[in-house]
Amino acid sequence: MAGLYVHIPFCKKRCLYCDFFSTTQLERRAEYIDAVLKEIAARRDEAGEPIKTIYIGGGTPSTLSIEAIQRILEAIDAPNAKEVTMELNPGDADLEYLQALRRIGINRLSIGIQTFQDNLLSLIGRRHNAEQAIHAVRWAQEAGFDNISIDLIYALPTQTMEQWKEDIETALGLNIQHISCYGLMYEEGTVLTRRLEAGQIEAIDEETEISMCDYLCERLQQAGFVHYEVSNFALPGREAQHNSAYWDGTPYIGIGAGAHSYINAVRSWNPSDLNAYMQGDFVRGSETLTEKDRYNERIMLGLRTNKGILRSEIRADISAQIAAGLLHQTTDGHIVATRQGLHILNRIIEDLMI
Ligand code: SF4
Repeated sequence: MAGLYVHIPFCKKRCLYCDFFSTTQLERRAEYIDAVLKEIAARRDEAGEPIKTIYIGGGTPSTLSIEAIQRILEAIDAPNAKEVTMELNPGDADLEYLQALRRIGINRLSIGIQTFQDNLLSLIGRRHNAEQAIHAVRWAQEAGFDNISIDLIYALPTQTMEQWKEDIETALGLNIQHISCYGLMYEEGTVLTRRLEAGQIEAIDEETEISMCDYLCERLQQAGFVHYEVSNFALPGREAQHNSAYWDGTPYIGIGAGAHSYINAVRSWNPSDLNAYMQGDFVRGSETLTEKDRYNERIMLGLRTNKGILRSEIRADISAQIAAGLLHQTTDGHIVATRQGLHILNRIIEDLMI
């Protein structure tokens, strides 16, 4: 079984914290979709296994018409795909659009809400407001979606603990099945990072960020969500199958500018360049992972999940991390990161890599 990802790199407006590959040249969408359809035709069978999950991400896939999304799904032609996810910007949602998405076969939505505080949304340059975010979820439910994920970000500049608690309660009040949560990262070259460096905004202190993360984990667990990956929480049985496949080493084909693929220990990548991509330069480069690369990747991805890694697979001595309460051994012999360990996961992973 394989996954297939389609990257739609168009956004109506750039968010101030974003360093993903995306463009505001919406006038190039039709031309881009033609290239995507060609790449799908050329590569859809590359994994040699049936496609089980489809994920249309971005950028902002909801800048596309229903007809364009339908053409993509028809080209993929995987009627038995169990999970077909599309990312949605709340600013693009209306009931009719959502009903049409459901009709053409999208069965899971990932809605980029980030926060329900209007002042914070405008501070990070999002183009929707809290009311639109709530409507997007309600309309999606009315349209028949029963597998909805939302994205939230914490540690936003000026964000208080009270605001974060309110965001979590609002999210829980929406009866969604999945929440992806990230602490804000100040990525190099973004407008927000330049404002931080110029002293125009202030980052949240580390202690508050950790408290926000701890509160999130505790409150969502209390509400019945499973913390199944460092940034992801789901009601039992509603874990994202497509993303779980990335962490499990299942093959996936990445279609579109800037997309990555992983098939039979070969990682390949498409150009993050619209012109090159649209000229048919689909796969720009590839590398075969060595045994060492695969081991390191297994450590990096496995420790991010609540399944962890079999202790017998780990080559480093981890007794110090266990004694310090950063790693924990389950009764079936797997090593998982504790809550305390999750706060410094990158450091732990580095220590375990070869
Ligand atoms: S909508 Fe998403 S991809 Fe587009 S600029 Fe904002 S964060 Fe980046």
